[in-house]
Amino acid sequence: MLRLFVALALPASLRAEIAGLAGGIPGARWVPPENYHLTLRFIGEIEPWRAQEVDDALAAIRARPFTLQLAGVGTFEKAGRIQSLWVGAERNDALTHLQTKVETALQRVGLAPERKRFSPHVTLARTDRAAPEKLMAFVQAYNLFRATPVEVEHFTLFSSRLGKEASVYTPEVDYDLVARVAA
Ligand code: ATP
Ligand code: MG
Repeated sequence: MLRLFVALALPASLRAEIAGLAGGIPGARWVPPENYHLTLRFIGEIEPWRAQEVDDALAAIRARPFTLQLAGVGTFEKAGRIQSLWVGAERNDALTHLQTKVETALQRVGLAPERKRFSPHVTLARTDRAAPEKLMAFVQAYNLFRATPVEVEHFTLFSSRLGKEASVYTPEVDYDLVARVAA
């Protein structure tokens, strides 16, 4: 079985910018900067033959390159606990469009629909063991954060190996976004 997800990889310069926000919250488990990514679709554990179908379906997607603007920070909560701290992505029709195409392609090869609404973000830290006041202060402090915009020219199928410390993500396949369909 392979644990897979579809995401935007981030250039090193952008990862370094985001890493500049990290730190200063006791109990937070910060994501290592090499792991920063923006998930388009979590797939989970699948069999190799199905992974092949997923790859074929993703390879057939036609979508355009776009500019990604990361801005602002926020949290996800579950049962009254703040689970994670993230940097957000500005609303962007091209990004939404790409995510929809990925979702449609994966449903076509038989994956169960994602129920959660797409909420583009880059996870900075797991925070279930951090003090809520510290997290709130962090959000306030960095609410106006804006990263340098970057051009997104491909999306990526990653495999994930869960580890005791951080997970190890491996880019398996890059899928190019193309500015215009060939005549
Ligand atoms: P860990 O689960 O040990 O904290 P991780 O979350 O870094 O590790 P994965 O669980 O393999 O690694 O997740 C890979 C990516 O998919 C991450 O961006 C994660 O937030 C996202 N993801 C994982 N599970 C789901 C899910 N059920 N729904 C939506 N996104 C998910
Ligand atoms: Mg996880």
